[in-house]
Amino acid sequence: MTKESLRKCVGCNELKSRNELIKITVDNSSKEIFINPNSKTFGRSAYLCYNQNCIEQALKKRKINRALKIAANIDLKGLLNGQLKG
Ligand SMILES: [Zn+2]
Repeated sequence: MTKESLRKCVGCNELKSRNELIKITVDNSSKEIFINPNSKTFGRSAYLCYNQNCIEQALKKRKINRALKIAANIDLKGLLNGQLKG
């Protein structure tokens, strides 16, 4: 059995492999939000499927805010513009 690191989507709570998910990271120092950040960005992260439903769920229920421990609204759709499949 090979061990693959799975991540949980905050929208649907399904476990998926890293490359099937969008990684959303809040930078520790700047508090900026990065989508699929490079390796120089360190901070709390959450994962979402490349899926409109999961994004809606995460925004509507503020799951993404809870996961990232931030209060401000995130313009996730703006940030994800062009990153979604379909
Ligand atoms: Zn999902």
